[in-house]
Parts: sequence; C-alpha cells; structure tokens
Amino acid sequence: MIDLRSDTLTKPTAGMRQAMAGAEVGDDVYGEDPTVKALEERVAGLLGKEAALFSPTGSMANVLAVRSLVGVGQEVLCEASAHIARAELGVHGAVTGLTMRTWVGKPLDLVTIQSMYAPDMGPFFVATRAISVENTHNFGGGAVVPLPELEALREFADERGLGVHLDGARLWNAHVATGTPLASYGAVADVVAVALSKGLGAPVGSLVAGTAETIAEARVWRKRLGGGMRQVGILAAAGLYALDHHVERLAEDHEHARLLAEVCGVDPATVDTNIVVVPMADPARVVAAAREEGVLVSAVGATSLRLVTHLDVTRSDAEKAAAVLARLLG
Ligand SMILES: *Cc1c(COP(=O)(O)O)cnc(C)c1O
Repeated sequence: MIDLRSDTLTKPTAGMRQAMAGAEVGDDVYGEDPTVKALEERVAGLLGKEAALFSPTGSMANVLAVRSLVGVGQEVLCEASAHIARAELGVHGAVTGLTMRTWVGKPLDLVTIQSMYAPDMGPFFVATRAISVENTHNFGGGAVVPLPELEALREFADERGLGVHLDGARLWNAHVATGTPLASYGAVADVVAVALSKGLGAPVGSLVAGTAETIAEARVWRKRLGGGMRQVGILAAAGLYALDHHVERLAEDHEHARLLAEVCGVDPATVDTNIVVVPMADPARVVAAAREEGVLVSAVGATSLRLVTHLDVTRSDAEKAAAVLARLLG
C-alpha cells in the first residue's frame, strides 16, 4: 500500500530506531534526561528562542503556547480551519477558558485581523490578546505563509501589545520550501510549536519554544495536564535523529507532491509543500477505487481529495500513485 493519507503515518527508520535504542536517559520530571535537554536546547537554538520544552503532542504544545499569551475570558484570533480551532476539540476553551474568533480564507489576512481586533474595554467584553498563525497551513493545503506577511503581523501585534503564536507543526516544510531560516520564523512569534511526528518521521513528539519564563511556566502546565514524562530521552533521540537526517529531504516530498498534483489537474505551482488538495465532486468514489489499486488517499468533506507525501513515499511510490490517480481521474 502507498499511503498518502497523512505525514503522521511514517514509521521510524532503522537508523532512528537505533538512535532511540542507544539513547542516554533519565527522569525528565526530575530534569535529569540528557537527551531531552539536548533536543530542547537544539530546537530553541534553531528557532532563536531562549528555551524549548518537549511535549507529547502538538496539540498539547499548542495549549501550552496559546495559554502563555491568552487568559480566561480573553480571545485569540485565528483562521477558521486552523488546527487549534478545528482539531483540538475545544481544549483551549475547556482548559484555558479563552475564546476564539476566526477569519475565513487566507492563512494570514492582516486587513481582516486589524478589523477584528477588539481592544480591552474593561470587564464587559472579550479583549483580543493574541493572534495564531499556522505555517505551513495544514487544511490550507500545506500553504507557506510568506515571511513578509508574518513580519507585518508582528508589527501590528507590537503596536497593539498582542502576542503571536506560530503553530509550526510543519514549519520545517516552510523552511525547506523557501530557504527562510527557522530563526526568522521564530523572530515573528512570541511562542512557537513545532512537531517531530509529521514530515520529520519521529513516532512521537512536539516542542514549544519561547522565552525562558514562558517555558518555565509551560513546564508546570505540562505536568498539570498529565504531560510530565520520565525516561523520554528514547523519544527525544528520535527527534534529534530526525533533525540530523530528515529536514533537508523534505524537498523530495515537495517534489513528489508537485508530481502528483500535475496528474490530478492541480497546477503544481500552487503546491507549496507536501500536501495536495484536489477539488472534485465525489472524492469518496476515488478514495475507494484508489484503495483497490493499493493507494490510500483521503477525502476532505465531500468537496476534495487530499494527498500527503512523506518519508515513507519514495519517488517510485509517487510515480505509481500518480499513474493510478491519472487513470481514476482521467
Ligand atoms: C498535526 C498538527 C498539530 C498537532 O497535532 P498532534 O496530533 O496533537 O501532534 C498541530 N497543528 C497542526 C497544523 C498540525 O497539522
């Protein structure tokens, strides 16, 4: 089976498993796991932040990140299909007590954000405290948010005293696709979440990065949420291995995605990274027919097909899948 449903489906490679097996470990709740510390320092450094914290999931990393900027009865603005709004099942409201207001459309729409901004009017209304941006934008088809747009957002946020959260579950893809240094993305946000378990191919793990103070507080909240982990250097080792071996190769995933786009009638120039969205009337039919031919793809609602390339999809897999899809869509 060639699995194009998601880049979360990758399995640890032999080299990664070896790195995990040999990892030096300790009790990370005691702050004694050297491999976790090494990963946290490495990621903080890459993003140009003072500190970072290992988190079991990206969703928990986002909770820790957003709650560092927004309190009870305050709001975060985000795009309507953002992961924090659509895929985290209400945790930000339930745990943090914040509210969300969303704009529809572009992953980052500064003009709309400016019109949505609600200043602090005292104890009668919800005040905007932060803006959350996803890069790349998952449900936006892996779209890269250009750095100048993020810099303009940063400027607006500074003028109003707002925080910026960057959901960078696939920030590595944006970095590789554009050549923009990770630290340049880090500089536009107060707090950044990145995932190791998407395109980087680690089995588990995300990190949240920010100031030393933010991360110290995030460490307390992670424990409170049940995310204090023990000899977790085994997992951090997978992350370190992925950073060494699986970042630059994301370019191959992007190339494979463009190859798939072409046969599906999607302009490859509109495919920024590793996700292809193919608009169509009856995606369920194609999902079922492709499965019969050994290719797994997913439907997004009843309007489109979604193909995601990753570490476990080789060039020849991409070509085989392209031939199957060309036949089914032709
Ligand atoms: C996958 C993802 C996350 C985090 O997901 P987990 O499954 O909780 O690790 C967050 N944001 C985006 C954009 C994602 O794609």
